[in-house]
Amino acid sequence: MGHLGLVRVPALRPAGPETVECHVDGKHVGTITVRVCDQCEVAVVEGIRMDDQPALADHALRLLVGRLPNHRWTTSRATAAQAEAFWRSLPWWQGAAGNPEYCPHMHRSDQPIPAPRADSPALPQASR
Ligand SMILES: [Zn+2]
Repeated sequence: MGHLGLVRVPALRPAGPETVECHVDGKHVGTITVRVCDQCEVAVVEGIRMDDQPALADHALRLLVGRLPNHRWTTSRATAAQAEAFWRSLPWWQGAAGNPEYCPHMHRSDQPIPAPRADSPALPQASR
């Protein structure tokens, strides 16, 4: 296996879903979707798409967890169900698979963004 690199693409909203692009020797091999809250120090793996290489997924997760070693790591139910055997095969995985720990900030990031009020000064009125 070549050199595995991870690039975290910042979430659009705090504690919202974040994409982690995985590359081997510069070639894109997969994506991990994760939610991270640095305030509560929790992280939830919501999806893994890897080029059908469990060893690579294992390696990528290890790297990712290694970058945030103090966070409590869990996985979403869907992720756990999708690859139950995979999660069981990771002896180093401390987090609970399929029992996600979402913090209040993650719940908040799921709320729809409130529409601007009609009288909001930030919303210029079309006057032509
Ligand atoms: Zn939080």
